[in-house]
Amino acid sequence: DPSDLIAAAAPARHLTRQANVRWGDHVVTIGGDAPVRVQSMTNTDTVDVIETAIQIKELAIAGSELVRITVNTPEAADAVPHIRDQLDRMGIDVPLVGDFHYNGHRLLTEHPAMARALSKYRINPGNVGKGDKKDRQFAQMIEAAVQYDKVVRIGVNWGSLDQELLAQMMDDNARRAAPWDGKQVMYQALIQSALSSAAYARELGMNPDNIIISCKVSGVQDLISVYRALARRCDYALHLGLTEAGMGTKGTVASAAALSVLLQEGIGDTIRVSLTPQPGEARTQEVVVALEILQSLGLRAFNPSVTACPGCGRTTSTTFQELAKQIDDFLRAQMPIWRGKYPGVENMKVAVMGCIVNGPGESKHADIGISLPGNGEAPAAPVFIDGEKALTLRGDNIATEFHALVETYIEK
Ligand code: SF4
Repeated sequence: DPSDLIAAAAPARHLTRQANVRWGDHVVTIGGDAPVRVQSMTNTDTVDVIETAIQIKELAIAGSELVRITVNTPEAADAVPHIRDQLDRMGIDVPLVGDFHYNGHRLLTEHPAMARALSKYRINPGNVGKGDKKDRQFAQMIEAAVQYDKVVRIGVNWGSLDQELLAQMMDDNARRAAPWDGKQVMYQALIQSALSSAAYARELGMNPDNIIISCKVSGVQDLISVYRALARRCDYALHLGLTEAGMGTKGTVASAAALSVLLQEGIGDTIRVSLTPQPGEARTQEVVVALEILQSLGLRAFNPSVTACPGCGRTTSTTFQELAKQIDDFLRAQMPIWRGKYPGVENMKVAVMGCIVNGPGESKHADIGISLPGNGEAPAAPVFIDGEKALTLRGDNIATEFHALVETYIEK
C-alpha cells in the first residue's frame, strides 16, 4: 500500500503574490509560480564605484539574480547611478536593490537618479524614525517606490526591531491574564512590524504585488517559527534568510537547515544566505551555498551534479576522489558556455564511485557513471550510460577516457 508514500509528498508551495523586479527589459519575478530566486549583497564601500561594480558582476555571474548594495550616505547614493552605468556597459543586467537604514527617506527624496537606478528598495521599519516622524519617513520612501514603480522589501530584523512597538507589546502582554512567553511576544512583534508597515504602504498607494516581506532572525528554530506564522498570515512574497548565520561550516549548515525546512514546506520566494566570509574567501561563496540548497532540494537546477561516494576501507586509493573533483570542476567551468548551448544540461547527473558495492547501482541511476576498482577488485572500471552498462575502462588512462566520455555524452 503506497498511501503513506503519497502522504509523505512535499506540501504545495505557499501561494503568494508575484512581484516583478525590473531593470530595462530584464525582469526577475519573485513569488507566485516563479522559481525561488537567489540574491546576495555586496560588502564593498558603495562609494567605490569600480570595486562595487566588479563585485556585483562576480555575484551575478555566480548566480545571484538580484544584488543588494548599501546606500547609507549621500556619496553612496550618488555612486549608485554610476555603478549601474558600469554594469550596463559590462552587459550585466542584474537588478540592484538599495539597502536603506535611518536616512533612506532623505536619500530617496534628494537623489532621484539613485532612486531610478535601483530596481528595489529594502526598507527596515525598525529604524525609519521614531514617534511622529516614523510614519512620515516611511511614507517618503513608499512614495518614491510608487513614483518610480519599484518593488520594496519591508525587511524586519530582530537585531533592529522597532523598539517602540516591542515595548508596547510587552506592556500589553504584562496585562494579559495569561501572558505569552517572551519569544512569542518577540515573534509577534516582528510579524506585526512587517505586516502593519505593509498595510500602511498599501494605504499610501503601493501595489501589494510589489511588496515583499522578510522577518529575519539568527536562530534556526526561531526563523522556522516566524516564517510559518508569517506564511499563515499574509500572501506577500517572502524573502527568506537566516540573518548573521556566521562563518564557514557553521553558517553554511545553519542556513541550509533553516531554509530547507521552510522551503520544503513551500515557504520562501527568494533566499539570501548571509555568510560571514572567512579571510580570503570569495563573497560569491554565499551564492554557491544558496544555489546548492535549492538544487539539493530539487527546487531548481543550476549545474550538473556529481554523485561520489565518501570512500572507505574498500578503496584506499584516492583516484576516484580526484576523478570526481576533476569532473565536478570541469562541468562547473563549462556551464557558462553550455547553459545556452545545451538546454537542460544543468539537470545532468554524473556518478564517480569507489568500488563495486554501490558503484554500478549508483552509476545506473546517473546519466553517466563510473565505478572505479576498489582494493582487491579486478582492475576494471565499468561505465554506465543512461542506466545501461556501456563499456569497461582499463589501464592508466581511465580518468582521461571517462572525461572524454562525459564530454561526448553532453554533446550528444
Ligand atoms: Fe566504500 Fe565502495 Fe561504498 Fe565507496 S562505494 S563508500 S568505496 S563501499
